[in-house]
Amino acid sequence: MLTNSDSSVIIIGGGIAGLSTALRLADEGHSVIVLSKNRLADTASFQAQGGIAAVINPEDSLSSHHADTVIAGAGLCHSDTVAQVVREGPECIRWLEDHGVRFTRTNGGTDLHLTREGGHSKRRVVHADDATGVAVMSVLIDRVRQHAAIRLLENRFVVNLVTTRELGLAGPNRCAGIRVLDDAAGVVDTLWASAVVLATGGASGVYQHATNASTGDGIAMAWRAGCTVANMEFVQFHPTCLHHPQARSVLISEAVRGEGGRLLLPDGSRFMPSYDARAELAPRDIVSRAIANELAEKNIDHVYLDISHKPAALIIERFPNILKVCAEHGLDMTKEPIPVVPAAHYTCGGIMTDQHGQTAIQQLYALGECSFTGLHGANRLASNSLLEALAFAKTVSGRIARQAGYPQPPLPRQLDSLECGKPALRQSVDTKARRLRALMWQKVGIVRSRQSLTQAERGLQELKLQLEREWDAGRLWPDVLELRNLLTVAQLITRSALQRQESRGLHFNSDYPSAQANPRDTALRPG
Ligand SMILES: Cc1cc2nc3c(=O)[nH]c(=O)nc-3n(C[C@H](O)[C@H](O)[C@H](O)COP(=O)(O)OP(=O)(O)OC[C@H]3O[C@@H](n4cnc5c(N)ncnc54)[C@H](O)[C@@H]3O)c2cc1C
Repeated sequence: MLTNSDSSVIIIGGGIAGLSTALRLADEGHSVIVLSKNRLADTASFQAQGGIAAVINPEDSLSSHHADTVIAGAGLCHSDTVAQVVREGPECIRWLEDHGVRFTRTNGGTDLHLTREGGHSKRRVVHADDATGVAVMSVLIDRVRQHAAIRLLENRFVVNLVTTRELGLAGPNRCAGIRVLDDAAGVVDTLWASAVVLATGGASGVYQHATNASTGDGIAMAWRAGCTVANMEFVQFHPTCLHHPQARSVLISEAVRGEGGRLLLPDGSRFMPSYDARAELAPRDIVSRAIANELAEKNIDHVYLDISHKPAALIIERFPNILKVCAEHGLDMTKEPIPVVPAAHYTCGGIMTDQHGQTAIQQLYALGECSFTGLHGANRLASNSLLEALAFAKTVSGRIARQAGYPQPPLPRQLDSLECGKPALRQSVDTKARRLRALMWQKVGIVRSRQSLTQAERGLQELKLQLEREWDAGRLWPDVLELRNLLTVAQLITRSALQRQESRGLHFNSDYPSAQANPRDTALRPG
């Protein structure tokens, strides 16, 4: 059984958002517990390739980074949040370097090497070759493991938040702790906390094709506890993920198209030139929509990406990692086109917070991909998500540090163990998750319509009723809990998409193909 003192700060999530908050708090002398439902290397943060946007170049400016972010966000960015995050960029890079992260350098090692990505008007992406996530996360993981003030609990599934309202205590609703699954026994322990931080990542795993395995647990937990959730309809789809029965979540970098890669139909013909003058180099959302259209019209489940017309030496030099992964699946990118499909990549919406990462519940904070801070608006600018996580880690840890000594209401020492999940539900969990993901892909995917969204709403409601019928006393399993969370976030995405009667940024509804004047965020409140 897990126990702790209620003065600890609990951080749920061991990605870049969780670990950088933990280190900042622990360095200030706070006692911190970090929980991760899997190994720390199994995070979206570890997978990050391109880099972190920050104004370092003397020819660049904060106002230019601000403007590029706002243009990408298609009318929905919160200007104050953008200014705050962009301003923190250079300090966040220094903080990572001070902790030992080695970014790629130039001019004999004197300057950081900066790349330029789609939507950025200047070179401003700090990176570590093409594996920035590995370089940053390896250092943060080492630091966290070594820090005496941080207790790290891997492979621990957090089930729910504990709030004072749920405990029947008077006063404003406050987060008092969390319930954690003891996987071996199938029962739940309670950990008390002076503050709880949600850093649980996005919800891309709600779709049949996804570049990462995130399942929206934190968003679902916060929703159940009473938080507002906003802009869930804005899901960023990456145009090219490897399509292979054994290869879930293998992203094929945009750089392949940048180097001349062409998108082809099964008969070998190109289709992008008929959609956009920039062809394969059009922005991500345009390429994803074009592929989705071809898949639907031709009734096929993938297209091809072909760079085999370029010299093999160039492909080997530029894309060693992608070549290796393709080879593991019996594909040779130097000689043949590879099958690809668009895939859910990033969740722009999430748990609504203020500019300090504070949610609607006192002493509950959210940051990183699970949060909605107003930075991304209707579309995320490349390399702004790692920056957002780092900038808010600084803000949230500062806010928690200032709140030390907050009066705590008397809390019960022990809560009843929560047990659920019949064996019957366990057996059908894979089938149900597959049905849910297929439904979301077909009806709430890259192109939506009034009819498809209404059908999705009905299908999800049926699944929910089934789940509730089978949800009963028994044993608790992580995959059953994940299914419950997936269902919640799928419903939130669908409801938000139904509310937005226009097309904007990442949300395209064929019944409302244009944008409306005076756009607003889609904020959903429980109850
Ligand atoms: C392939 C790929 C490439 C990318 N490249 C870039 C890039 O170059 N630049 C950029 O800015 N962004 C990039 N992104 C996006 C970026 O990586 C993510 O947005 C960011 O890493 C999210 O960090 P996070 O800490 O919020 O969440 P994650 O890194 O997803 O971590 C979430 C953590 O929460 C834990 N967790 C979740 N639920 C529970 C639960 N119930 N109980 C306990 N623990 C739980 C998980 O175990 C995990 O430790 C990329 C994403 C992908 C998938």
